[in-house]
Amino acid sequence: MPYANGAACQRPSIVTTYVTESRPTSTPVPSTTYSSIPTTTPLSFSETRTSTSTESFSETPTSTSSAESSSTLIPTPSAGCRPASWTREGDAPSVGTLRAGIIFVDFPDSPANTTVNELYDFISTAPADLYREMSYGKLNLELVPMLDRFTRMPSVSTSYNYSRGLTSEAHVHYINDALTAVGASVSFKGIDVLYVIPAKYANEISASTATKIDVTAADGTVIGNTITYGQDLYNVWGPKTVNHETGHAMGLPDLYPYVGGEVTQWVGGFDLMGLIGGMSPDYFAWHKWQLGWIDETQVECVASTGKTTYRISPIEVASEDSKLIAVPLSSTAYVLAEVRSNLGINEGACGVGVLLYTADTTVFGGSGPIRVIDSTPNSGGCDFNKGGELNDATLAAGLSWDTGLGVVFHVTAEENGSYVLEVDSQI
Ligand SMILES: [Zn+2]
Repeated sequence: MPYANGAACQRPSIVTTYVTESRPTSTPVPSTTYSSIPTTTPLSFSETRTSTSTESFSETPTSTSSAESSSTLIPTPSAGCRPASWTREGDAPSVGTLRAGIIFVDFPDSPANTTVNELYDFISTAPADLYREMSYGKLNLELVPMLDRFTRMPSVSTSYNYSRGLTSEAHVHYINDALTAVGASVSFKGIDVLYVIPAKYANEISASTATKIDVTAADGTVIGNTITYGQDLYNVWGPKTVNHETGHAMGLPDLYPYVGGEVTQWVGGFDLMGLIGGMSPDYFAWHKWQLGWIDETQVECVASTGKTTYRISPIEVASEDSKLIAVPLSSTAYVLAEVRSNLGINEGACGVGVLLYTADTTVFGGSGPIRVIDSTPNSGGCDFNKGGELNDATLAAGLSWDTGLGVVFHVTAEENGSYVLEVDSQI
């Protein structure tokens, strides 16, 4: 979901009904939104470039032979190139314990017809387990029910404007109604993120939405990150919805387009900030770097022109190995390479090997901040229910790829699941 503007988190399936179902054309523009929501259409990734403005993402393959390299293996750590904008200001903790306080709500027109325990059990283990694996044990998601019963909202569910397009004002009104109904006797102290979870079958509360607008609980605690869940938690995306929405609280953007296009057009089924139900849902190494799950020493920063060689291991495997090659194109834009396997939570992946992509910290969520480079264009892809054409975008050992951005990657070898890459940079 776009932060706080009330539109649906994602379309329910990879079909072309997104605009009509989840993005009614009558959706009002919020007057106050999360800072990553542009008020005007930002430049696309390629438009943000200067020196390579005539080049596009129409990458073309080069020679498939790559044994001629005379470059040397560069030891880690290399020079850091972490984006300066990654301050974590206003973001929920991504390392250590993230405490999410839960208010379960029902409505005069949609009273609860399950127990609170049934809803809690639905999300009590899977999202925390997923984060533990994705973060290599660095993040502990702790879910804390603020009350052991439903809190009755003061207004009927249809009064909160979900079906007409939730504005940020209506969203905050909904959150404040829940906080007021809970009352001052409940302490929210120490809560990093507030979850408001509706009764099952309160169908008017349709889509999950995150906001970074400050709200104040009745006990005086100011909460900077709130997620209001919708029925999509139960009937579309399941518990991974929690990992997607909490990703926003930790500072990650949406990777699917807010306006037009296919939900998988930029990242396929990679990274659940794109498609929650994708076939390779682990966060990009780029995001793991941002969140502190990958150390600086595990990022190979290509700071010089010419050929250099690196070895990186699969992101799904906890290790001290290098996990990401980062080639800065500017102070905000990068060409990146990581290794995707079909291990762990990515066991359903149909594309394994070296995954190339670009990232730009100046491009807003919903506008394509990350774009996978398809090294198998027009292949037909694989698993169209979970990402489609880009799902097999990975580059196999022995192949090379010219990104068209001044960087050519040669995958010289695969060694026990790790890959050796020669990077030829003209940046
Ligand atoms: Zn989202």
